[in-house]
Amino acid sequence: MTRAKTAQIAQQQPALGDSLRIAIVGAGIAGLSTALALARTGFTHIDVFEAASSFGEIGAGIQVAPNMSAILDRLGVLDKVVKDSVALDGMQIRRCSTNEVLASPSFLHLRDTYTYPQMVCHRADLSKTLFDACISTGVIRIHFSSRLTDLDFENTRFCVTQGEETRWVEVDVVLAADGVKSIARARMLAATGQVDDAEDTGQAAYRVMLTREQIVASGDKELLDLLDSQIAQRWTGHGRMIIAYPIAHHNIYNISTAHPDTHFARAPTGAWTTYGSRAAMLGTYVSYCDTVQRLLALVRRDQVCEWKLRVHAPLDGWVRERVALLGDACHPTLPHLAQGAAQAVEDGAVLAAVLAKVGCKEDVGRALRVYEALRKERAEWVVDAAAHSGKQLLLSDEAALEARDQLFANSHESGRNPDQYADKEVQQRIYGHDCIEEVHTKWDELWAATL
Ligand SMILES: Cc1cc2nc3c(=O)[nH]c(=O)nc-3n(C[C@H](O)[C@H](O)[C@H](O)COP(=O)(O)OP(=O)(O)OC[C@H]3O[C@@H](n4cnc5c(N)ncnc54)[C@H](O)[C@@H]3O)c2cc1C
Repeated sequence: MTRAKTAQIAQQQPALGDSLRIAIVGAGIAGLSTALALARTGFTHIDVFEAASSFGEIGAGIQVAPNMSAILDRLGVLDKVVKDSVALDGMQIRRCSTNEVLASPSFLHLRDTYTYPQMVCHRADLSKTLFDACISTGVIRIHFSSRLTDLDFENTRFCVTQGEETRWVEVDVVLAADGVKSIARARMLAATGQVDDAEDTGQAAYRVMLTREQIVASGDKELLDLLDSQIAQRWTGHGRMIIAYPIAHHNIYNISTAHPDTHFARAPTGAWTTYGSRAAMLGTYVSYCDTVQRLLALVRRDQVCEWKLRVHAPLDGWVRERVALLGDACHPTLPHLAQGAAQAVEDGAVLAAVLAKVGCKEDVGRALRVYEALRKERAEWVVDAAAHSGKQLLLSDEAALEARDQLFANSHESGRNPDQYADKEVQQRIYGHDCIEEVHTKWDELWAATL
């Protein structure tokens, strides 16, 4: 893969590299990539506090978009990610009921234009690569079974429960990557008298994975061709959609859906992800074409996982004193643009870059405000674009669908696509942005503005 001639995360060794005590809350993709970015930049006191008892990532396929690859490359883990990934040549967008191809955007230009292809891999592989790289730095300590329960912004300390034990941890900076249900966000909002409330989108997603063995055993040549293909499939219509692509060296066919959230309404209060009902899944897609029916018929009862898709209204700010939010904690994003994790990885790299520029601990809060100034508008634009794309993909009104499908038909010439993920202008805005270069070019101006 051709490497980008891009700016390094830090332009010089950070002045506080050996003294800044950094705590990261959450060892998801945001937390791990941030820890790694900080270590690669030259920081040596990095502690990650993770509520789960061990490293273990459930989940299914995840897309590694060119902007995520640009950071993974700088973090020195791209080769491993490429090895674990399938590079997509393009996507076929199909009418759900007939399987007719409405548009077939190519992704081949992405590699030429943005250096990296559109890749897909197993989330567990990506997380493991980040985790192993973190451990091998020798300067990142990961504390499992360590749940943040409270935050004291004024004194840059937080309360952690580890089994029966509860203790306060005092550091120089807290980077909260504790996901969409973030306690840190709730505390930050509470500090200004606001109530934290994630928004229900009314959408849910099934995520299922079929193994090569299952598909081969079915003897279904068309499904085997899908597994061996470099082309993602999108079926859309009837107020729901499916995206499917091969991962794990074409040994797993990953199927991710979005549909009206009717089953969760009956799930226990607070449940956001659950093992779903196979019968309910088949019922949700009963009007879809024969190919989809045959795919879903192969899914085993224990393979159905359903996620409730939630977002959060834009926050007034992501930073309070020396505490910053990142990733899903501050910009949970619908999956329609495949950018939630990519934006989180950008957050982490920018945090490392701004902290590397700080000369004394008193300036850490200012650096975090520069991070917010650099990241918030972009991430929130991506959140909106994903929501907008979801509306187009989940249309059910026949007249609106007809108009949208005409846009799909025209998309080859115009480059504009109602599926924003395949829209060339949206791609330019997301993949053509170098978030690290921006730190270096805008630093002086933004630093002065934080005085
Ligand atoms: C169906 C679906 C498909 C998606 N597909 C894509 C895709 O293709 N590409 C893409 O870029 N993004 C995708 N996303 C989005 C992506 O999954 C998320 O944006 C990303 O995983 C968020 O990472 P995070 O580290 O911020 O949060 P999380 O992954 O939620 O990690 C948070 C971590 O913090 C820990 N934690 C929580 N609370 C505490 C606490 N109090 N104390 C300590 N630890 C705590 C949790 O245990 C967890 O390990 C998708 C999302 C969905 C729902």
